[in-house]
Amino acid sequence: MAKKKPKYVYFFGSGEADGTSQMKDILGGKGANLAEMTSIGLPVPPGFTISTEACAYYSANKETYPEGMREEVLENLAKLERLMGAKLGDSENPLLVSVRSGAASSMPGMMDTILNLGLTPTSVQALIAKTNNARFAWDSYRRFIQMFGDVVMGVPHHEFERALQDVKDSVGKSLDTDLSSENLQEVIVRYERIYKRFTGESFPTDPIDQLFKATNAVFHSWNNERAKKYRQMNDIRGLLGTAVNIQSMVYGNMGDTSGTGVAFTRDPSTGENKFYGEYLMNAQGEDVVAGIRTPKTIETLRDVNPEVYQQLVDIRSILENHYHDMQDVEFTIQEGKLYMLQTRNGKRTIFSWLKTQVDMVNEGLITKEIAVSRVPSGEFGKLFAPVLDTKSIRDQGLEEVTRGLNASPGGASGQIYFTAAKAEEMAAEGKDVILVRSETSPEDIGGMAVAKGVVTSRGGMTSHAAVVARGMGCPCVSGAGELHINETKKTLEVNGHRLSEGDYMSIDGFTGAIYATKIPVRSSEIVQVLNGNMKESESSIFQNYKIFMGYVNELKTLGVYANADSPNDTKMAVALGAEGIGLCRTEHMFFGGNRIMSIRKMILANNVVEREKALAELLPMQRGDFEAIFIELHGRPATVRLLDPPLHEFLPNDHTSRHELALQMGITVEEVAQKSSSLHEFNPMLGFRGCRLAIIYPEILRMQVRAIIEAAINVKRKGILVHPEIMIPLVGNYKEFVFCKKVALEVIEKIFEEQGMHVEYKIGTMIEVPRAAITADEIAKEAEFFSFGTNDLTQMACGFSRDDAASFLGPYVNDIDKQFYDYDPFATIDIDGVGKLVDMASKLGRSTNPNIKLGICGEHGGDPKSIAFFNQVGLNYVSCSPFRVPIARLAAAQAALIAKDSKK
Ligand code: PEP
Ligand code: MG
Repeated sequence: MAKKKPKYVYFFGSGEADGTSQMKDILGGKGANLAEMTSIGLPVPPGFTISTEACAYYSANKETYPEGMREEVLENLAKLERLMGAKLGDSENPLLVSVRSGAASSMPGMMDTILNLGLTPTSVQALIAKTNNARFAWDSYRRFIQMFGDVVMGVPHHEFERALQDVKDSVGKSLDTDLSSENLQEVIVRYERIYKRFTGESFPTDPIDQLFKATNAVFHSWNNERAKKYRQMNDIRGLLGTAVNIQSMVYGNMGDTSGTGVAFTRDPSTGENKFYGEYLMNAQGEDVVAGIRTPKTIETLRDVNPEVYQQLVDIRSILENHYHDMQDVEFTIQEGKLYMLQTRNGKRTIFSWLKTQVDMVNEGLITKEIAVSRVPSGEFGKLFAPVLDTKSIRDQGLEEVTRGLNASPGGASGQIYFTAAKAEEMAAEGKDVILVRSETSPEDIGGMAVAKGVVTSRGGMTSHAAVVARGMGCPCVSGAGELHINETKKTLEVNGHRLSEGDYMSIDGFTGAIYATKIPVRSSEIVQVLNGNMKESESSIFQNYKIFMGYVNELKTLGVYANADSPNDTKMAVALGAEGIGLCRTEHMFFGGNRIMSIRKMILANNVVEREKALAELLPMQRGDFEAIFIELHGRPATVRLLDPPLHEFLPNDHTSRHELALQMGITVEEVAQKSSSLHEFNPMLGFRGCRLAIIYPEILRMQVRAIIEAAINVKRKGILVHPEIMIPLVGNYKEFVFCKKVALEVIEKIFEEQGMHVEYKIGTMIEVPRAAITADEIAKEAEFFSFGTNDLTQMACGFSRDDAASFLGPYVNDIDKQFYDYDPFATIDIDGVGKLVDMASKLGRSTNPNIKLGICGEHGGDPKSIAFFNQVGLNYVSCSPFRVPIARLAAAQAALIAKDSKK
């Protein structure tokens, strides 16, 4: 049988398309949706898409095309020419095309676009004759030379900008739109000279040559530095490459009845169900998002062209009903006729995610399952983002110095810097940075990523700064036109205020307000409601959050506990939905006040009697803490871990503290110093810590178990349910566990007798030593629960020090030529290695103790990707820090949905 010819090019036009929206992997998001919009009858300029498979071949084969691709492009071009009744770059009836990139995941501003391809010195004359608009034709040509020069040939963008500015200055005009056709021809002459100077060749006049050069540039841009950085920052992996969309041009710059715009079917900032967009008349392509002129809001289009406005409103509901999600569209109006150039699921803030999804469930547009599956768990933490402290603004009578657009929510306060590089440098020094730019470009990404806030003087809600900052969850005020920024002098002036580099500024990304001073930043509305500082009824954000978390709880099966070791943390954890405490690190209770003194006495004791005396001082403090924690938990389980860290961590290093300790203990400073140095270990994390402490000094274990059980009895006496779980750390050999358990049981039995009362309890262990994972079946015969300590388990399984690995782990994970690990193994579980140990130990544990309770309390317990894995392994719960509890709950629900799907 003849082998089927591979297909690399997909046509769309005239109501029919080779592709569909399901084919994002090979058509890219843009190409797939252009095909889909064409098929559902929307006005899309015809064109074709070269697949991501062709790009993958190009990247892997020294920048050459797969066999047959070139011919397929030419066939599809001929089809497009027939449909349009025009020929690419023709001297009589020219077809002009745009060439755009588009990968399966949207990468805004990352990949390059070329417009007006096909223009040559002869076709530009034909365009003049055809449109009877010489100014438009020359403007299109000069834009094409500029884009082609910049994107395809790497001619510096600013060279063209300077030439344009020179011509504007020479004729005394300030706006591009003020330039006449003659002025534009002068610009073109200068552009052609620049092109030749930088490339050593004349600007290409063969349209087919232009087309393939542009295609190559798009393919090539898949691997440019900023695209790679964007993919890395946004964890975009496993894609083939970018598709290339070649589409017949429509013009927004053909005069005052033409224009171009972008819109969201709902508000991307708040999620409000209203049509939300911006446009510019007599403008082309990127003008709206580039922030050169400040665009107008979409409602005003009703006055400019009511028919087109109504058509857009209709398309808004067609798209939402078709895609069942908020869409982000690009459109162009050419001489009063509307064309749709793009649709995609809209990027939005987490507030907008919650509101759009809750509203769409209520509108019957989507199910709860879909709502939960869509909301990005990685963004969820931003719900708890800080805001400017309005009380302090009121109290100090602070006034905003100006107001821009509220491009990305959240409050930020810090010192201003005018370049991304400086922002990165200062942030590395630990400064809170506000990045101030006239407008941002993809080169600024690094600076934006480290900034607390971003401010621009130009550009709208869809400008680069606004879109990127929103995506990063970084507060942003854009288009603050009253800011006069001098990037050379590194100063800005605004309404009589003059700020220099390093001065303080505060911004309110919810309102667009800018203050020329430092303002305290306080916690989010949700946190305020949870803390009882705001009424639930006053916060619509909280209400949406609550409804959404209701869906999450219905779907998730994995338990979510918190790592908490104080009553306050416990209270917040419970408010955030924690179903128990998975790790109470008792050593955290030993710091502060007299406690540290007592534990130091215990450590420095010369014999059991002295040690027990010091422990007796600690007992009531520990018992009191446990009581307060158990009360906050109201019957939810509390896993309390016995003392774990090496003892020297508690001893003072400086002379003053050693002196104070010596005085209190009635010994000499030298004795303190001597004891400290005798406790020194070369490798403390593999040293005298964990259950080893309890084995050598069982009196420590006895005191802690007594504190836990007595606290539980006291709380039970108050009529409050209580479920303590005693956790023995760092067990590697079941005999260690058996030893500790025996001592603990003796204490417990004794207390029950003393008190004449029992409480339910469990005794279990952490699995954080590889040997424990390997012998988990033995340990499980004795233990009632396992909690995987994946921090130590990662450290010991990979042989990477938790404290020192950063120096090489960065390159191990990030360097393109290495990538030995997909993610930092201390942040995301190393599924193939450490994950395998977790899976194996779970199975071994259940083989000898089918009822064993299995959880994980390492940092991975709050990481969505790791949670998906733990759900798959079948753990009973994950445990993480309180503010990651909602993230973990969402991730658990999403993991349950995936599991359900894969069963189907
Ligand atoms: C662990 O090792 O994963 C753990 C939770 O314990 P710690 O981080 O306190 O060592
Ligand atoms: Mg540990």
